[in-house]
Amino acid sequence: MSLNTLTIRQAHDGLQKGEFSCTELVESCLSQISSTDEELHAYLTVLEESARQEAKKVDEKQRKKLPLKPLEGIPIALKDNLVMKNVRTTCASKILDTYQGTYDATVVEKLKNAGAVMVGKTNLDEFAMGASTENSGYGPSKNPWDTGRVPGGSSGGSAVAVAADECIAAIGSDTGGSVRQPASLCGVVGFKPTYGMVSRYGLVAMASSLDQIGPFGKTVADATLLFDAIKGPDRRDSSSARASTEPVSPSLKDGIKGMRIGIPKEYFGQGTDEDVEKTIRTAAEVYESLGAQLVDVSLPHEKYALSVYYIIMPSEVSANMARFDGIRYGARSTGAATLLETYTQSRQAGLGPEVRRRIMLGTYALSTGYTDAYYKQAQKVRVMVTRDFHNAFRTCDVILAPTSPTPAFRFGERASDPLQMYLADIFTVSANIVGIPGISVPCGFVSRDGKDLPVGLQILGKHFDDATVLRVGHAYEKATEWHLRKPPLMNGAQ
Ligand code: GLN
Repeated sequence: MSLNTLTIRQAHDGLQKGEFSCTELVESCLSQISSTDEELHAYLTVLEESARQEAKKVDEKQRKKLPLKPLEGIPIALKDNLVMKNVRTTCASKILDTYQGTYDATVVEKLKNAGAVMVGKTNLDEFAMGASTENSGYGPSKNPWDTGRVPGGSSGGSAVAVAADECIAAIGSDTGGSVRQPASLCGVVGFKPTYGMVSRYGLVAMASSLDQIGPFGKTVADATLLFDAIKGPDRRDSSSARASTEPVSPSLKDGIKGMRIGIPKEYFGQGTDEDVEKTIRTAAEVYESLGAQLVDVSLPHEKYALSVYYIIMPSEVSANMARFDGIRYGARSTGAATLLETYTQSRQAGLGPEVRRRIMLGTYALSTGYTDAYYKQAQKVRVMVTRDFHNAFRTCDVILAPTSPTPAFRFGERASDPLQMYLADIFTVSANIVGIPGISVPCGFVSRDGKDLPVGLQILGKHFDDATVLRVGHAYEKATEWHLRKPPLMNGAQ
């Protein structure tokens, strides 16, 4: 078995027992990147040199038979909207083409302290705005299950890197589904923690009240190990929560007997692919067989969630993007004669069409005379959506739903119609609006054009009850084998 296919736990065991060196582990990921990434394009930057140096340090510890921390020597990929010192951080935007991080994001600092080896920065939709990576300024990533299809987005590169074994695990960010949806479309695990559990310091802001950093793994246990390493309060992020810093990993094995699992009727039926729906219902039966009780719940304001998201998110985007003006950050247009021209020309040249669309939508929603009708109204409905979830959680411990209404779609199929693209988020945005944790776990496949495409099961939980969400995901994974399947590309079949 190639070392790059291992999970974090397996790799850690092997390193600790001296079955292979950290250099061998890192080299196996780098060689997978060089043989597959020209096609898949998961990475924008590969950090060969620094990864090799880090690996040597761990080799040395192995030689001395010193104990290794759980993430020590584990090759991890980072979404390229996380700032890393002295490393290019582009957010997949031409405006940041040459930008180098001047400090480490808290998450990066924590991973470094945990001994993880950063193998590279992964592709995304420009500034994390999109659901397919087609909005990347550097070309899209491809889905390893069918390279004619998108991997999802915006953290598509991180999902592909994990699915194609180009790293052991990865980090992404989720503002409206950007960890869960690509995880679902690529057949890996993706977890969005409760808002505030992970510091956003050093995550290039998209929509600050919705953004949350989250891990990708080949298993729930791996995603949990990463979550344990990156969570915790941070005085550099005033929205980070003073929640428990106790590791969640030990509680994964506790099982789900007697747990109440809510099935919301609003997440099934119209608009959801029939095969996807069947797959999710079958997954629910697995839970019943494990001793959980299925209960019907209702989220009556769910139908407004996507509209709320597409008002609040662009409003915050328009404010956050103001800093990319050609003066403070990013590429500056050279042809401008006045300050205003510098702003407009730099932004026109440096930002892609989707980013500009959202800045315009947000500026509109926040402009005098429209704030009450759009932004403030959306905030009120946000409260109603939140209340629905609180009510539902009175009768259930977690909520089960599809992550995405469809499996991976073809390149170009939605790119020209923003509304179609926005619908990809219909089941994921609520967790961000409300701030609750959510995970996507592989739960089966549907066949399209003769290819098997993964389906993800979404589990949503109560605020700060991340542990239960992970435990419920883990229980399903233990009972099934979907997560063990590898894309055909890896078997040389494509
Ligand atoms: N696909 C969603 C959007 O386009 C979510 C993006 C994200 O979570 N970063 O806004």
